[in-house]
Amino acid sequence: MPGLLTRLKMTLGRVLFGATEPALDPSAATPTDIEMMRRALSLAESAAKEDEVPVGAVVYRTETGEILAQASNRRECDTDPSAHAELIAMRSAAAQQGDWRLNDCTVVVTLEPCPMCAGLIVNARVGRLVFGASDPKAGAVVSLYELCSDRRLNHRIEAIGGVLAAESSELLREFFRSKRGKKSQ
Ligand SMILES: [Zn+2]
Repeated sequence: MPGLLTRLKMTLGRVLFGATEPALDPSAATPTDIEMMRRALSLAESAAKEDEVPVGAVVYRTETGEILAQASNRRECDTDPSAHAELIAMRSAAAQQGDWRLNDCTVVVTLEPCPMCAGLIVNARVGRLVFGASDPKAGAVVSLYELCSDRRLNHRIEAIGGVLAAESSELLREFFRSKRGKKSQ
């Protein structure tokens, strides 16, 4: 639960800047969002076993809960700098439904999207974004940039952050800890 001051600031932000202001208020997540986040977390966990930074993503139809696509980070396996979990999942969701517009979809991802992925979220006109841990080093939704709520861009997204964030952070921490362990051996 965010502290009282944070909540006050969020409410004030919403009043001043409109309802699309990104809120790190995980209590706004629906039971479906949470179920999908659990799925994304297990995808992230299997990515770690393949030596990929553990991030997982699911794209589902907001109305029905139907899963259109899911993916984990594949940067190392594919030697592709763009192979982030949510980017792969969004591309295959669009192919799956035969429409690049994802306005009826929710993108669920275990880590706050980077500038590239947040940019794709805007370009794909994603309806909702739900993410887990924030990323102070690369996050482009609330941390470093606010691409999903920037009024200068032509599309704004309902964003909910901090959903099962502790689980996501723990996966990442454990992954980098074991990497460092391997290096020092
Ligand atoms: Zn990314």
